Amino acid sequence: MTGAAETRGKRSARPPGLHAVVLKRTDFRESSRIVTCLTREHGRITGLAKGAHRPDSPFLGRLDFLAEIDATFSPDRGGLRLLERATLRLERRGLREPVRFLAASHLAFLCDCAMPDARPEPAVFDLLVGGLALLERCPPERLGHVVLGLELRLLAQLGALPDLDHCAECGTRLGHDSWRHADAPGLVCRAHARPPRQAVTAQAMELLRALHGSSGRQWPVLAVDVPAELAAPLPAAWLAAATEQRPRLRPVLFAHLRDSSRGHADGSAT
Ligand SMILES: [Zn+2]
Repeated sequence: MTGAAETRGKRSARPPGLHAVVLKRTDFRESSRIVTCLTREHGRITGLAKGAHRPDSPFLGRLDFLAEIDATFSPDRGGLRLLERATLRLERRGLREPVRFLAASHLAFLCDCAMPDARPEPAVFDLLVGGLALLERCPPERLGHVVLGLELRLLAQLGALPDLDHCAECGTRLGHDSWRHADAPGLVCRAHARPPRQAVTAQAMELLRALHGSSGRQWPVLAVDVPAELAAPLPAAWLAAATEQRPRLRPVLFAHLRDSSRGHADGSAT
């Protein structure tokens, strides 16, 4: 193992690192860390960062949660890989604000559970990086819209976004009258809304369609004046079905956004 690593180190040209975002870190023994990254080129990779806790470690300040790095891993031989080198590309300081941090953590969780290990999904990587940039900068009152927009994009990439405009059963164009069943994710017309059924509000559909039909840059300035919380339950059900996980930060995030939008309305924003 060590011999092979030395041989590699002696090669003159080091391959450039992988563009990566730190998704998870756990302590390993006294001085090391296990780091899970999402990389653009190779999907999710987990590696051991030896001595990352030591005061003189070259990893110091480079492996923060959600940091964007150039990462060099040891070759994949089936066991735990080594994170050999990391250089910082971007530190997203704006995400230290608690509600932004919560939104960003939720996005990272979704990308993490949507990705199998070591399968490249450049579109999911780009969604994560672009999403973090949006969450860092968007006006606080638009965070909910941006989160919903990102969720719709991720669902679309997973092939798990229901048709927002047509009945899942007959293909009829859905206008202001959309329904869903408790047991199926798709939207249906009134004629196909078997009980137990649930009407979807026209406002929720208006917001979801507007987010789905516009670019990420437009989300913070969308002309649709519908609170994100109104539309939030639909993507929640779709995400749970697509990832087979219940995103645990999501309820906390939307409760916080709801409370703070009430705070703005009362003029008592904190
Ligand atoms: Zn129908």
